[in-house]
Parts: sequence; C-alpha cells; structure tokens
Amino acid sequence: MEILYNSTRSENAPVKASEAILKGLSPDGGLFVPDHIPALDVPLDELAKMDYCQTAYEVMKLFFTDFTGQELKDCIARAYDEKFDTKEIAPVVEKDGVFYLELFHGATIAFKDMALSILPHLLTTSAKKNNVKNEIVILTATSGDTGKAALSGFADVEGTRILVFYPKNGVSPIQEKQMVTQKGKNTRVVGIRGNFDDAQSGVKKIFGDRELSQELDAKGFQFSSANSINIGRLVPQIVYYVYAYGQLLKEGKIKAGEEINVTVPTGNFGNILAAFYAKQMGLPIDKLICASNENKVLYDFFRTGTYDRNREFVLTSSPSMDILISSNLERLIYHIAGNDSDKNRELMTALTEGGTYSITKSMREKLADFYGYYADEEETAETIRDLYQKTGYVIDTHTAVASCVYGKYRKETGDTKPTVLASTASPFKFTRSVMAAIDTKYEESEDLELADMLSQISKVKMPKAIEEIRTAPVLHNHLCEKDEMKQAVLEFLSK
Ligand SMILES: *Cc1c(COP(=O)(O)O)cnc(C)c1O
Repeated sequence: MEILYNSTRSENAPVKASEAILKGLSPDGGLFVPDHIPALDVPLDELAKMDYCQTAYEVMKLFFTDFTGQELKDCIARAYDEKFDTKEIAPVVEKDGVFYLELFHGATIAFKDMALSILPHLLTTSAKKNNVKNEIVILTATSGDTGKAALSGFADVEGTRILVFYPKNGVSPIQEKQMVTQKGKNTRVVGIRGNFDDAQSGVKKIFGDRELSQELDAKGFQFSSANSINIGRLVPQIVYYVYAYGQLLKEGKIKAGEEINVTVPTGNFGNILAAFYAKQMGLPIDKLICASNENKVLYDFFRTGTYDRNREFVLTSSPSMDILISSNLERLIYHIAGNDSDKNRELMTALTEGGTYSITKSMREKLADFYGYYADEEETAETIRDLYQKTGYVIDTHTAVASCVYGKYRKETGDTKPTVLASTASPFKFTRSVMAAIDTKYEESEDLELADMLSQISKVKMPKAIEEIRTAPVLHNHLCEKDEMKQAVLEFLSK
C-alpha cells in the first residue's frame, strides 16, 4: 500500500517519499511523518536468515513506496558495502548480559554512518524520479561528527556537491583532521572564525536566501540538507533494530515472537524514534529505554510531561548528546496527540516562544512504553571502567551512558528481558575520555598515542578511520569570517 508523508504542523497535501526526501523539511517548518506505519510483512523466523542488505530492503520498501524495487536495491547495495569493516554491518555482541548492537563499523566509526551512507543515493534517486535536473548541493554546519559522516557519504556521488562549515576552534583535533583530509572532487570543508551557532545560523540564512536560490537555479544548482530530521535518515535507522532481532533469533538467544527491550543513548531523538517505529511495525519490542547525559531534558519530560529547555547547557564527555532541543521528538508528540497537527503546532510554537510546553494527560498515557533516565559524568566513567574490568570490552562514552541507564532500569523494575543496546560510537572516536575513565594514568598522553594504547588493552585492531588520518594529507585549508559564508558557497560552486 502506498505511503504518503504528512507535515507535523499542517494539513497540507501529503507528498510521496521521494519528495519528502528531497525537501527534508516541510515548507511550514514541520517534519514529514508517514500517514500510517506499515506492518513488517516477513515472518519473524525468516529474519534470522536475512543479511543486512536483505533486511534493509524488507523495511525500506514498505516506507519508500514510490521507489521501484530495483532502485531501492541499488541504493542499499551502494551504501552497505566495503565501507563497513565487517560483513555483518551491524554486529550484535553479548557482554555482561547485554546485547550491544555495534553501529560504528562504517567509514567514520559512529552510528551516523548507518543512515548517511545511504542518504546520498536515496537523494539522487529521488531527484531523478522528480525530474530534478539541477546538481544537488548539500550544505551542513557541524560541531564535529555529522560533518565528517556526511562528507564521507557524499564524496564522489555523481550529481551532488557537499560543503561543510565548522567552527575553526570548536572541534577536536581528531575531528578537524578527519574533515580536512576528506577526499572527493565534489567536497569542500571551510573553517569559520566563530562558534557552532554562527556556522548553524549562517547555513540557515543561506537556505532562506531566495535571491541566491534563484541565482543558483539558473546555474543548475539547488540546495538540500543532510539533517537528521530527513526521513531519508530516519527510515534506514529502523533497519538495524529488525536486523538485531534476526541476529538474536539466529544465535538462539530468543524465540520468534519473544519480546525484547531496546536501550538508546539519545540526543536528537532520531535513533530511539526509529526503534519506536520498529515496534509499531510489529517487531516484538517491549520497553524503549531512553538514556540521557547530564542534559536531561528528556528524562524530565518523561517524568513530568513538561518539556523545558530553559536550563543550563552542560558540556559532557558524550558531546553528540549535548542537546537541549530534541528535534525528532516532534514526530512522537504528533503521534501521541493522535496525528493532530494543530495540537502539535500549538506545542511547538510554545517551545519556540517560551522554551517549554506540557502535554495532556491522555498524551502522557501513550508514553507508557518509554522509560527515561540519565547518567552523570562520574557514573558514565564508572560504567566504562567496570565493564572493561569485568569483560575486557571497551565501550565509548555515549554507549556508556546507555549502559548505565539500562542498569538503573533493571534495578528499578527487575525486568530481565533480553535487551539490545545501541552502541553508537567506537571507543576510538573518544579515546581521551574513554582511557581516562579506565585509568587516570592515561590523562597525560596525546590522542593518537591513546589510540595505540586502547588498541593494546582492548585487543581491538585500530580502525581504518583513525589509522588513515595519521598520514593523510590535508586537502582543505579554507577559512572564512562568519559573514562571508555566502561568498564561500559561490566560490565553491564557480568551479
Ligand atoms: C548523534 C549521536 C547520538 C544521538 O542520537 P540521536 O539520534 O540524535 O538521538 C548518540 N551517540 C552518538 C555517538 C551520536 O553520534
């Protein structure tokens, strides 16, 4: 059955999947949501026999209904290939009674690769289907991780160019090195003299510049975004929960139909929303355990029914979760309001204007499947150290937040159902915090030395992503003032 996509903020005419992917955001500022959630149509037993690409096809064909089977299969085959350092793509590893779903085997060793390796192909296919002749120009502002994952996904993809702005002094040395060594004729990386907010508002301004977009259209270009609210990023994230279930069946850890829990370290609420959609599709998931760091807006929301971003922003050792506005939560709000765009718009306006909103009692009742908790900095470090001492397995800081919160959940509820925990980054990406958690003696060493030591103590081979940046030549050394970003774009497109 065909699925169309509605905006969470108005009753505008729904659009096809390919149009929603091309647009990213609805013109009214809302997010695109499927008009219904399709049921998984493979028997659960069968999942055990399917590899990652087959599972991806079974899930995506149900959501991207205006793509042909062949188009989807091509996108999937181009995304999940040797860029990943394991055939399983997303292996499940059992440690200390928890099933860690490792989502960090892609090019940039963090879970953003799972969606950003397929988005460029979904986007170029969508452009073809809608007779878009322009070259697609991806503009992104990054505080570190998304920029590199997007660069790596779009590098040398025909019909696209990508330009990433980052705050010159606002990312880690490893993150900067990863970006400025990016290969690909269609890529450009520009440091700006300013902070992440300057980069972000600069990009927003360029997106909103009508004159510029007309000028570029005449030259054969149009902008698009690789932002995490694009359904072209959300749907590919449903796949690995279905795949994880298949792996547990295959290993004999569960029986077909048996319920599992899912625990997710959460920032923008995209990853856990994908797990929620997997559950709606009929995957036997009981609880969705939402783990926050000290920026615990979501924990407070699940406890009280009030979302309140008016609080101090805390810098933690899990920076990808340092977020006070979880954009993808809007989709959940829309669904629990009974797919009511008026109600959702009212709450989102309150959030924009006063930084807070409260949901109704009947909406709260629909959140019974969610459990929210948080871990502070000390607990996060302790979790890394304890798991390492017990099992020799080293997890990153984001995964550790989730692991700690899962421990709290289990203690509080006594629930011992098999639990899949989304492991969102390789510990090699956050060596400094990870090694300091294991032993304070590591605090003096340099980042790349620490990577060697981590490899030794964890007996895990150094990922290619880290190995490469040691010797890779710097290919981008562009710098600009924060009010020169538009010129930087024009200059890049004039080649
Ligand atoms: C982006 C990210 C998260 C948060 O995921 P959301 O989908 O934004 O909730 C968690 N961990 C890591 C390592 C990330 O890069």
